[in-house]
Amino acid sequence: MAILLLLPLLIYLIYGPLPALLRKYWTREKLRQETDKPQLVLTFDDGPDSRYTQEILAVLARYQVKAVFFLVGNKALKQHKIVTQILAEGHQLGFHSMQHKNGLLVGPFSQKKDFFHWQAIAQSYHWPISYYRPPWGLANISAMYYAHKFHYSVLYWSVIVGDWDKRHSGEELCNRLLSQVHNGAVICLHDSGEGTGGDTDAAANTVAALEKFIPMMQRVGYEFVLPKEVIR
Ligand SMILES: [Zn+2]
Repeated sequence: MAILLLLPLLIYLIYGPLPALLRKYWTREKLRQETDKPQLVLTFDDGPDSRYTQEILAVLARYQVKAVFFLVGNKALKQHKIVTQILAEGHQLGFHSMQHKNGLLVGPFSQKKDFFHWQAIAQSYHWPISYYRPPWGLANISAMYYAHKFHYSVLYWSVIVGDWDKRHSGEELCNRLLSQVHNGAVICLHDSGEGTGGDTDAAANTVAALEKFIPMMQRVGYEFVLPKEVIR
């Protein structure tokens, strides 16, 4: 009887929390390992944003840096012109779920729907999607299966600085980046906070941080590259 009661809990643990937390931990540890080369990868989650994505694109263009933008599907639909601009400027795209729901609270059928919906949108706009990053880094088994099915590489991060919280100034974020950065770092920043658990104007501080951080790192010999260029 006790087993019958515990069975749903066990199934849930195997479906969601166990693989999600183990994978999040392991992949982040792997990404934290230094590479030989002073290379950094910039990634932006939770956009596109009607204002800040373009401000970030302008900073990246000024310093000739390419990055990966992890899109929230519903926002991408509303801001599809910005997605076109991201691609036209040489950046890459990743999928970050349709509505930014926590993978531990999404059942297998909803998860499937999420991926198929996104795949249909991406195909209709001819957007090449290279990566998948689950919201909060928490992917259930179903999400991992569909990411694999659609050939999206799952990319986590090794550096994160809390830029979704607007109490952190650009200078503070830049200092946090400088203290965490390492050879081969995959840096997770946010080009939007609206509707995804962050503060609406927090990305203004992300823009300010990038204005300082990118030239500072380039001056000391770091190169900003796309993920596949990092030699591990
Ligand atoms: Zn996110």
